[in-house]
Amino acid sequence: MLKKVVIANRGEIALRILRACKELGIKTVAVYSKVDKDLMHVRLADEAVCIGPNSSTDSYLNIPRIISAAEVTDATGIHPGYGFLAENAGFAEMVENSGFTFIGPKAETIRIMGDKVAAIAAMQQSGVPTVPGSNGPLDEDNERTMRIAKEIGYPVIIKASAGGGGRGMRVVHSEAALINSIFVTKTESKAAFGDDTVYMEKFLENPRHVEVQVLADGQGNAIHLFDRDCSMQRRHQKVVEEAPAPHIDPEARAQVLKSCTDACVEIGYRGAGTFEFLYENGRFFFIEMNTRVQVEHPVSEMVTGIDIIKEQLLIASGQPLSIKQEDVQINGHSFECRINAEDPVSFLPCPGKINQFHAPGGLGVRVDSHLYSGYSIPPFYDSMIAKVITYAPTREEALKRMEVALDEMIIDGIKTNIPLQKDIVRDTNFAVGGVNIHYLEEKLGL
Ligand code: ADP
Repeated sequence: MLKKVVIANRGEIALRILRACKELGIKTVAVYSKVDKDLMHVRLADEAVCIGPNSSTDSYLNIPRIISAAEVTDATGIHPGYGFLAENAGFAEMVENSGFTFIGPKAETIRIMGDKVAAIAAMQQSGVPTVPGSNGPLDEDNERTMRIAKEIGYPVIIKASAGGGGRGMRVVHSEAALINSIFVTKTESKAAFGDDTVYMEKFLENPRHVEVQVLADGQGNAIHLFDRDCSMQRRHQKVVEEAPAPHIDPEARAQVLKSCTDACVEIGYRGAGTFEFLYENGRFFFIEMNTRVQVEHPVSEMVTGIDIIKEQLLIASGQPLSIKQEDVQINGHSFECRINAEDPVSFLPCPGKINQFHAPGGLGVRVDSHLYSGYSIPPFYDSMIAKVITYAPTREEALKRMEVALDEMIIDGIKTNIPLQKDIVRDTNFAVGGVNIHYLEEKLGL
């Protein structure tokens, strides 16, 4: 078992990792930027090391400082959480080359999945359904490119192979705009990601975002924890998530779940991961794989009873998966609302001091948050400050429970998106379930 773990992150996920380590008897080291010295997990960790000034580049993204912190504290493993360095193959490599365990997949796997063209090729080999498209990079041969677009049918989307965070994509509606759009996307991609490889996919007009959570031990065993629906998005940012995804064709679901675990075995995947799909007209289309734990992992934990972070730590300790696929059952339904420190109308970040914090509670209510009364939210990082998660035997009850929980929550001193969340959970179409990825922006009139 890992003896001591550096938590290379901040906020709610750092606290979440700390709790899992404590339950497993693993010692913890918090690393923090100057302004973050009062974070809850920094107070609760066995040791804490300041790794630099407030900007992320100088602290949470500073690889040598994080590795030094592991060295001076005699740690054995490093957990990257999500965001920051979690999907940085160079970091994973450096961690392992320095003699520590990276709590995640092998650097090589992260590299392949970070290259979308390579990721899609790997998925196709394992039978994971992908979006009809160019099946590889677009080259200089414009005739060929136009032919592919015609075959898959307009609209198409041009995507940067190295893209991420919703950047490096362009929708094309007609042949007249195709070649120029490719040129512009290539130029942008080169500037943003240092790589101008682009590929083409059919643009799906009204899909849902449905993703599959997996756990694999890199020793030939892989399981899935079913699916989540994260279609409630604004600017490609997820706002509300739920598990399981409602109204999914049972046959398509069974097939896609199996293809994900098959792919994990095929690529020798290790750790927790997520296969993201667009789901339209009863069919799944792979878009990307996230090689880390995700913000929305709690909804899968609630319905399966499996602690995903603990499993990550056990896998990283070299233990074979102890859970068999047939032992993973879905019980009930779970929702997660992301609470952000932002203006609910303009969406501008709203950092500042929390005068009073009251978390909702009761049966089936979980709040993952690092907030406490008197805490000051710094302006330097992500604006997500809490996740409210509800669980109940049915979807309807879990949604009602969320309504009650949000009404009870108090975050006084700053503006938050709680009013928006209250609106969403009372939305009649959301109550039916299965709205598409454009629904929230349409509802907001964007
Ligand atoms: P990123 O790594 O930047 O998040 P993704 O490939 O996951 O890129 O795509 C981000 C979002 O862009 C998706 O959630 C979806 O909303 C939209 N998108 C991507 N590919 C397609 C497609 N083929 N058709 C329709 N929408 C797409």
